[in-house]
Amino acid sequence: MYKIGIDLGGTNIACGVVDGINLVYKKSVPTGKITGTESAAEKLGAALSVALNDGGFSWDEISEIGIGIPGTVNTDTGIVEYACNVGLENSPLGDTLSKLIKKPVYAENDANAAAWGEYIAGSGREYKSMVMLTLGTGVGGGIIIDGKLYSGFNFSGAEIGHMVTHHGGRECACGRRGCFEKYASATGLKETTRKYMRENPQSIMWRIAGGIESVNARTAFEAAKKGDKAAAAAVNEYISDLACGIVNVINIFQPEAVVLGGGVANEGDGLLLPVRDIVSREDYARNSKRRAVVKLAELGNDAGIIGAALLRTNRKGD
Ligand SMILES: [Zn+2]
Repeated sequence: MYKIGIDLGGTNIACGVVDGINLVYKKSVPTGKITGTESAAEKLGAALSVALNDGGFSWDEISEIGIGIPGTVNTDTGIVEYACNVGLENSPLGDTLSKLIKKPVYAENDANAAAWGEYIAGSGREYKSMVMLTLGTGVGGGIIIDGKLYSGFNFSGAEIGHMVTHHGGRECACGRRGCFEKYASATGLKETTRKYMRENPQSIMWRIAGGIESVNARTAFEAAKKGDKAAAAAVNEYISDLACGIVNVINIFQPEAVVLGGGVANEGDGLLLPVRDIVSREDYARNSKRRAVVKLAELGNDAGIIGAALLRTNRKGD
């Protein structure tokens, strides 16, 4: 039997067929306009049909479905409490889809689903406790303690991106200033890059990016590799900001691993090694024999799909 994981996004519905812990087939279809629970369930059902059909699978081979949702999901009741990107509020989406397709359906917040995927099938495989940080448009967080996702009593926790690391700093959409994600996300990295470009009109970052509006999350890393001093300073500031939040997370949870995913993590060792240096100096438990490790995620964009498919698996090897 296969399991299906769905990553429900504002733009695309990505469906993946999972065999054991391995993704064996993946298909994305445009989300279209969702106008409530019924409409969302119909769109998901249609996306599933297309994926199974195109991949050559039959419904009989599918044991269950998991959905990662960009919002707050009450995992006790299965109710999607709030997911504004996909137009859902107090929505029994899982139950509605389950009735439609006659299979068990599990739902979870998408960042949690991605963390769960890395934990069961990726970089976190060998650990019992792990924190995942996804460095994308924002900073997504997922916390796993002793084999269980932790998201607070009201399912709104693990918002590590909205921990303030720069009191009074950059304005955040959440209403606070100086949130970690305003610095450590890809968006934060672009902002830091632009700051160094403005201060350094001679920097080759101007040429590499082709202008301040077309800066991306690779601009500073690329220019720094070519020896540009302003770019190296931007990269250092970014890494120092990122490591600050990682050390905070380690000091609170002391997880066995902190796993970094998302676009910026594609920088690989150029990002990881200097972050590890700072963590090894600043971790409160630096004199302990047992230390949290910082690692890169392994599953890329598939983590959320694999994690969603495996939501029922509440212990390893299940
Ligand atoms: Zn915030």
